[in-house]
Amino acid sequence: MSKERVSYYYDSDVGNYTYGPGHPMKPQRMRMTHNLVVNYGLHKKMEILRPTRATKTQMTRFHSDEYIDFLQKVTTENMDNLVSHQNRFLSGDDCPVFDGLYEFCSISAGGSIAGANKLNKGESDVVINWSGGLHHAKKTEASGFCYVNDIVLAILELLRCHQRVLYIDIDCHHGDGVEEAFYTTDRVMSVSFHKYGEYFPGTGDIDDVGIGKGKNYAVNFPLRDGIDDESYKVVFESVLSHVMEWYRPGAVVMQCGTDSLAGDRLGCFNLSMKGHGHCVKFMKTFNVPLIFVGGGGYTIRNVSRTWAYETGVILNEELDENLPYNDYYEYFGPDYKLGVPSNNMENLNTREYLENIRSKVIDNLRQIPFAPSVQMQEVPRDFSSDEEEEEDPDVRVSTQQYDARVVPDTELSDSDDDDHRRDETNFKDQAPRSSRRTRKTSSRERNRSRSRKTAKPSNANEYSVKSEHVGFPLTGSSARFENDGSFVEEEEESSGKAVLSTDRHPIVRDGGAVKIKSEPDDEHKMDVDQESETEDDGDTQNVNEASTNNSPNQTPTPMEVQETEEQSTKKH
Ligand SMILES: [Zn+2]
Repeated sequence: MSKERVSYYYDSDVGNYTYGPGHPMKPQRMRMTHNLVVNYGLHKKMEILRPTRATKTQMTRFHSDEYIDFLQKVTTENMDNLVSHQNRFLSGDDCPVFDGLYEFCSISAGGSIAGANKLNKGESDVVINWSGGLHHAKKTEASGFCYVNDIVLAILELLRCHQRVLYIDIDCHHGDGVEEAFYTTDRVMSVSFHKYGEYFPGTGDIDDVGIGKGKNYAVNFPLRDGIDDESYKVVFESVLSHVMEWYRPGAVVMQCGTDSLAGDRLGCFNLSMKGHGHCVKFMKTFNVPLIFVGGGGYTIRNVSRTWAYETGVILNEELDENLPYNDYYEYFGPDYKLGVPSNNMENLNTREYLENIRSKVIDNLRQIPFAPSVQMQEVPRDFSSDEEEEEDPDVRVSTQQYDARVVPDTELSDSDDDDHRRDETNFKDQAPRSSRRTRKTSSRERNRSRSRKTAKPSNANEYSVKSEHVGFPLTGSSARFENDGSFVEEEEESSGKAVLSTDRHPIVRDGGAVKIKSEPDDEHKMDVDQESETEDDGDTQNVNEASTNNSPNQTPTPMEVQETEEQSTKKH
């Protein structure tokens, strides 16, 4: 049993939706994942919750009212009408209108928002929502199978209680929607490892580091085809060690898109299940409140195996390599094993290339102050629900805690529909992002013609940043690739205090040397979201008991979360 309190959000309806025949995004993969989780018995080791569906009010904390209205109204019957007038909201074949689209989005977003709220209340240490992770959705536009950005909504919720939130993205595609939303703030750092170059969405270059106050708080690690476990581990650990030590986030959201696995239908990396899961394991070592969400992943037998495996990693549970009997057993033949092996594709990420990118990333990180803090100006708005509970007047809240609960309105990036808010004069040295990027145009993305918008800064109402002088012991080391291909971390004598000079800072880690080798690689995306009219913090009933009763002795049955009468009435 894990020491941490783990909360797992799942709505059994999520697997019922379909993007349509032939579409690579298959919500059924979440149901398959849950089926494996239950048949491995992992549901007994964590709290299983059915999230309250995200409401329109919750979704419009990031998205525009018009866009969410559109998602709520559009159906396969009226789409021709609506889309002809408002087709800027959807993009080609990637983001089709399908039955239940809005509900689907509200399930995905509901779980991530509820999870963030759970962490904020201190009721859980780690949250899982494999139905979330829809990182491409923009403020006024669906993109790459993603309609509502559950991640941005969850981060906004976390910012009520945490001064700094870290977002990590290990999907094969750039986490563009999340990066853009927080491109001008230092309160959210986004770190994305992704295929770059002739690949969707075309953004995420090494030089895209953020704008204004957000400069150097967007971290992009562009990769070539075929990256393997060993190389990925080196760059992931190196970058995240620096980030965790220097940025010191109060909470972390990690997008675990599985299209970075070997053999993905749209991906082009060569990670094994264990290599992918290692990133999850590594982030757990920092003992920071964590939300793990899903994302891309289009070879669904591998998606479900991996997310089940990573649920085990989160719970510190070793899973039998032979898959338990489950509802989708035939999908996992011929071996019926838990693993996803890497293959023999060439790794186009040479040592030199990786080291070059890694040192640029680390150099940029050295530009930021240690654990930047913010001075808050406003009373926090509760992002979990408008009519949520009043704060208990008997509970004492320190000034610091109180101050820490503000999200300035300027956090949200503007979208191009708000041209009147654009202020480019202050950022004229920054070329528009779209002009600096190439777009991948093959396969499903080929009809996407719109170029990406610049996250536009807003000057109003910004919080001020002050350097925080915090002394703490450091075991410094500096890591790099050697000429012989080995990756070394050199111990440095530390002054014992974090210094404020930002031109150079030591990284954490226990100093073990890691080796790296090179080898060979291809393409993808993702999506979702929906809503209901109910509001609350999204926590749903604990269904542990109910679900266990469900399973007959002989054959393990998928444990679906039980639906209460109350919830049934919310649906049509
Ligand atoms: Zn993806």
